[in-house]
Amino acid sequence: MELPSKLLENAVNEIAQLPGIGKRTALRLALHLLRQPVEQTNQLTSALDKMRNEVKYCQSCYNISDTSICLICANPKRDTATVCVVEDVRDVMAIEATGFFKGVYHVLGGKINPIEGIGPSQLNIKPLIEKVRLGGVNEIIFALSSTMEGDTTNFYIYKQLKEFGITTSTIARGIGIGDELEYTDEVTLGRSLMHRIPFEQSIKQV
Ligand SMILES: [Zn+2]
Repeated sequence: MELPSKLLENAVNEIAQLPGIGKRTALRLALHLLRQPVEQTNQLTSALDKMRNEVKYCQSCYNISDTSICLICANPKRDTATVCVVEDVRDVMAIEATGFFKGVYHVLGGKINPIEGIGPSQLNIKPLIEKVRLGGVNEIIFALSSTMEGDTTNFYIYKQLKEFGITTSTIARGIGIGDELEYTDEVTLGRSLMHRIPFEQSIKQV
C-alpha cells in the first residue's frame, strides 16, 4: 500500500509492530491519531514514554511497580511468609483479582523452556532461593500454568528449596491442563489457591 506521507508510513510501521495489529489496523489507528486534537496524541505518547522509561520491577518480588518496592510487598497487612510463585505480572493481577490471597508473590519472568533457550539463569529463580535462605518464608505456593514447562520449572525450584525444609504446595488443578492463569475465572482460581495441595503429592499424581 502506497502512503502519501513518509511520516505517516513510519508511524504505521511502528504501530504494526504491536502484537495482533496488522498494517490495516495500524493505518486506521494512525489516521485516528491524526484526526484527534494534538494534545490528546501528546498525552498518549507521553504516557507511553513515561511508562517505558520509569516503570520499575519490585526489588523483592519483580512485580511491576512505580517504586523500588511494590505496593503488595510494602503492605504491612500482607503475609510475607507465604510466597506465591508465578510466571509473570499478569498472573499477579489475576490472583489479586480473586481477593483470596493475602501473602506475597515472586514473579519468575517466564518458565524454563529449553526449546526456546530459556534456562533457569534467565529467570528470577536465584533471588527466590536467596529469599528463602535468608529466612522468614514458611510456604512456597507454585502457581505456574500446568504445562510441561510449568512443571519443569516447579520441579527445578522445588529441588533447590528442599534443603530448607519449608512447605511447598501447588494450586489445585481445577484449572485445565495448559490453561493460562490469566484466563481462568476468579472463583476457580481463588478456590484452587484455597485448596492447594502439597507439592510432593502433585508429583505423585504425574
Ligand atoms: Zn513486590
